[in-house]
Amino acid sequence: MSSPVWHPFTQHGLGEPIPQIVSASGAWLDCADGRRLLDLISSWWVITHGHCEPRIAAVIAAQAGQLDQLIFAGYTHPQAETLARALVDLVPAGLDHVFFSDSGSTAVEVALKMALGHWHNRGEARHRILVLEHSYHGDTIGAMSVGARGVFNRAYAPLLFDVATVPFPAPGGEGTTLDALARLCAAPERPAAFIVEPLVLGAGGMLVYGPDMLRAMRDICAQHDVLFIADEVMTGWGRTGTLFACEQAGIAPDLMCLAKGLTGGLVPLAATLASAAIFESHRSMDRARMFFHSSSFTANAIGCAAANANIDIWRSEDVPARIAALGAALDEGLASLGAQATLHNPRRIGAIAAIDLKAEDAGYLSDVAPRLRAQFLEAGLLLRPLGNTIYLMPPYCTSREEIGSAFATIGSIVDRLAD
Ligand SMILES: *Cc1c(COP(=O)(O)O)cnc(C)c1O
Repeated sequence: MSSPVWHPFTQHGLGEPIPQIVSASGAWLDCADGRRLLDLISSWWVITHGHCEPRIAAVIAAQAGQLDQLIFAGYTHPQAETLARALVDLVPAGLDHVFFSDSGSTAVEVALKMALGHWHNRGEARHRILVLEHSYHGDTIGAMSVGARGVFNRAYAPLLFDVATVPFPAPGGEGTTLDALARLCAAPERPAAFIVEPLVLGAGGMLVYGPDMLRAMRDICAQHDVLFIADEVMTGWGRTGTLFACEQAGIAPDLMCLAKGLTGGLVPLAATLASAAIFESHRSMDRARMFFHSSSFTANAIGCAAANANIDIWRSEDVPARIAALGAALDEGLASLGAQATLHNPRRIGAIAAIDLKAEDAGYLSDVAPRLRAQFLEAGLLLRPLGNTIYLMPPYCTSREEIGSAFATIGSIVDRLAD
């Protein structure tokens, strides 16, 4: 009997097995057939501390019995108020306003709309968006427009708006990136904003660049009065070693997008943080200048309670130390693969480790990724290579032993691939 479920990023015509997961805890998933899988990609980059984190789960249960969902236009609730204050305290100084939504893509759409609304309300016709090469910002039409073009969005290309692309700062190419950014910022068609994944481009292949580069890009935007949007949907909540990646560069963006780990990953919630200047350009006695955006589940009380519980964990425990220990285990794992001739370019930032296969036919649709994914699954590992990039992004509770044995398995599977 075939299921009516249509899965994301899944070619149903291939008939690949779709395991059914019935429960989870820590870094482990339990399959309906009794097998256990080690979730090495935090269930698509959202779980931070671990699955079903007991304190967050308890708060969710309690909140569900007290206040579930409330219209947020003209009404508010304590969980949202507490969370907004906590977020403003935690993020780099200068982001004083919090707009809630429900996914990373929506947080990005909101940031783009706020940027355009800002210039519109100030009477400046600025709508051009600058993007970084190889970026990913989500799958809605606006978020796709500011992301890399490719097979994922070819069918929708006629609907995507034009952007100007700044080359990725590959080692040695930093000057080219900064020159291109400065040129675009100063062009007669003044840009509205530059949107960036800070320190690591996730879906683009776990491409890493340094904090100096991030700071230099931010400075150029500030010099030219171009709004700087930090998409911390994936990098936020400790993934790069600090609570937010922007901290490592000592920068404050004009707009910041948060989602994924905001609730520890247990339930969906997103937030777009904005500077006072952007809020003020919308604030007026004129209703035509308000921010015209909402989604049904904006500031859902259960989601906000989960995020508050997540922040309590960050405040009461040394989460960065846990991430550093996990990072050391990932380094050991990468080093253990070092001897493999088919692999190159190992890299690690925070709780993300990646290494590339020297595949001739690199690219998302090359069949090496699904072949590897199937073999990893067979061996009890949930991994999902991006083209020829094998990466791990485990929950922070994953132990050194679990990482060590995962790398041993990965090594032997990659070894066999070469035969
Ligand atoms: C995952 C991701 C998004 C989209 O988030 P969704 O919740 O899947 O819509 C946006 N930006 C980045 C950097 C992401 O990694």
